[in-house]
Amino acid sequence: RLFNQLQETKGNIRVFCRCRPLSKEEISSGCHAIIDFDSAKDGEIGTVAGGTTKKSFKFDRVYTPKDNQADVYADASPFVTSVLDGYNVCIFAYGQTGTGKTFTMEGTENNRGVNYRTLEELFKIAVERKDTISYSISVSVLEVYNEQIRDLLATSPSNKKLEVRQAAEGFHHVPGMVEAKVENMKEAWNVLQSGSNARAVGSNNVNEHSSRSHCMLCIMVRAKNLMNGECTKSKLWLVDLAGSERLTRTDVQGERLKEAQNINRSLSALGDVISALASKSNHIPYRNSKLTHLLQDSLGGDSKALMFVQISPSDNDMGETVSSLTFASRVR
Ligand code: ADP
Ligand code: MG
Repeated sequence: RLFNQLQETKGNIRVFCRCRPLSKEEISSGCHAIIDFDSAKDGEIGTVAGGTTKKSFKFDRVYTPKDNQADVYADASPFVTSVLDGYNVCIFAYGQTGTGKTFTMEGTENNRGVNYRTLEELFKIAVERKDTISYSISVSVLEVYNEQIRDLLATSPSNKKLEVRQAAEGFHHVPGMVEAKVENMKEAWNVLQSGSNARAVGSNNVNEHSSRSHCMLCIMVRAKNLMNGECTKSKLWLVDLAGSERLTRTDVQGERLKEAQNINRSLSALGDVISALASKSNHIPYRNSKLTHLLQDSLGGDSKALMFVQISPSDNDMGETVSSLTFASRVR
């Protein structure tokens, strides 16, 4: 129902804005919350306003710090399940480091996020439909860091650079990338765990590293309709993007500068693709970054995309918050 309702608005990209609560540290250091919400109810558009200007931004949904993981997943679920009907889908979280991108996508053990709930729901529906449709599900886990693609499921490190290629049938793929076939939730979750363990290898500060790289899960669904023999192949990307914060003065040299430039490049490329799609431009610049090139089949065409723009409520993050909200509002 939600999805149909959203379909009637425009384009194929929806934007949900989520604000995290003030942290203990913020409270104890005297920060205060500056965001006003008019959260979206059925069929309404939520707005976010804040700061001295009280500039307001409109989104398809707005989640306040009180909304929980189940509330958020309930609205993401129509996007997720359409992959079982043959659509390519992309769900990604954008925002400054520390605003809850990983919380929304991965969540925690007691507070599962979109990734876990997605797999759970896909397997549940696949079982329900087993008499009419035979599904085969596989997962890949990639990381994009400094414009290089790393396969987090690769068992042996390879010197061969992973690249995006277009197959004869038109779809994009990464030759050599591991696609792990998974039969159930437990298997899928184990594969994702091994991916995130691999992510930690070789970085001395995992949190820092993960805030500077894009973490990309791809769930591939092959469906065979047992009634008419028709086969479809579709994919769902679940992406925890690198932090969108701008350079600080101490970052202006060396490795950190290079990282920041690459993050900037890929996030602006994403913004450019989304706004080119929204304005129905003839040329969509997918190839300007690894990120957009990887997501090509799931952004545009008849695919469905959902962006979470994650924000902080705190007065001292105002600059970054306005910049994230502005980025996200290019889409609508
Ligand atoms: P990011 O991935 O954007 O850097 P995180 O997901 O790591 O941010 O979130 C930063 C901190 O805030 C974490 O401790 C996380 O558990 C907490 N947090 C984020 N969003 C929420 C939320 N909606 N409710 C409660 N805690 C949250
Ligand atoms: Mg994170």
